[in-house]
Amino acid sequence: DDSNSMVDIKVETVSQNTKEDIKDIKDEVDEDITELKNKKVYLTFDDGPSKNTTQILDILDEYNIKATFFVVGKTDNYSKDIYRRIVDEGHSLGLHSYSHRYEIIYESLDNFQYDLYKLQEFLYDVTNYKANIYRFPGGSGNEVSEEDIEVFVEFLNDNNITYFDWNVINGDASSKGVTVEESYNNVINGVKIYKNSVVLMHDANNKLSTVESLPLIIETLLENEFEILPLSNEVKPIQQIEANKIYE
Ligand code: ZN
Repeated sequence: DDSNSMVDIKVETVSQNTKEDIKDIKDEVDEDITELKNKKVYLTFDDGPSKNTTQILDILDEYNIKATFFVVGKTDNYSKDIYRRIVDEGHSLGLHSYSHRYEIIYESLDNFQYDLYKLQEFLYDVTNYKANIYRFPGGSGNEVSEEDIEVFVEFLNDNNITYFDWNVINGDASSKGVTVEESYNNVINGVKIYKNSVVLMHDANNKLSTVESLPLIIETLLENEFEILPLSNEVKPIQQIEANKIYE
């Protein structure tokens, strides 16, 4: 258990120390424990719905955890059920572009706007919920956009839509994929660093290790008293993280 290892090591050395040392060590341990407490983690899944979404939702339900889904536009009945289930079960339904086609949405503000409204309206028709959080495909730091990203940011601001990048990845966007163990380690080592972590993962047919690593990730977070929460436009966003190496 990585996250407790520092504490464990210190506790083990207690027997070899004087009383004064013990007090120092206890203070340090208390500080470590305090540091670990009240940390917030926002689990986010991009690119869904996929055939894995049902299982992801089942896992979240099992642990009574709320997460965030930045979805794309899919009109089949299974996907529509998924959008509804996300909303009904108290997760955050976020926008991730209707088409997810970089070469179109990032070509101009007109295209960007058309795509975003199309998704927002479509999701509203299906779920009766007006999504107001957004994740740029490739992140706001993507180097694909032909138009200056600030133009889109201004448009989002004008529409009261908050965009979220991330500060922790599970690594599942890598071209060679990620093992269950890597996914777990990437997330747990990442969330230790920040007071508030936004974790990027993907909800896509071929990202099985993401699903398989999820129960263990959640268990470790809960054991270490992390708060796992859904994103909303009330949450202070993580933004402008360079994402040029991460293609989704
Ligand atoms: Zn994406």
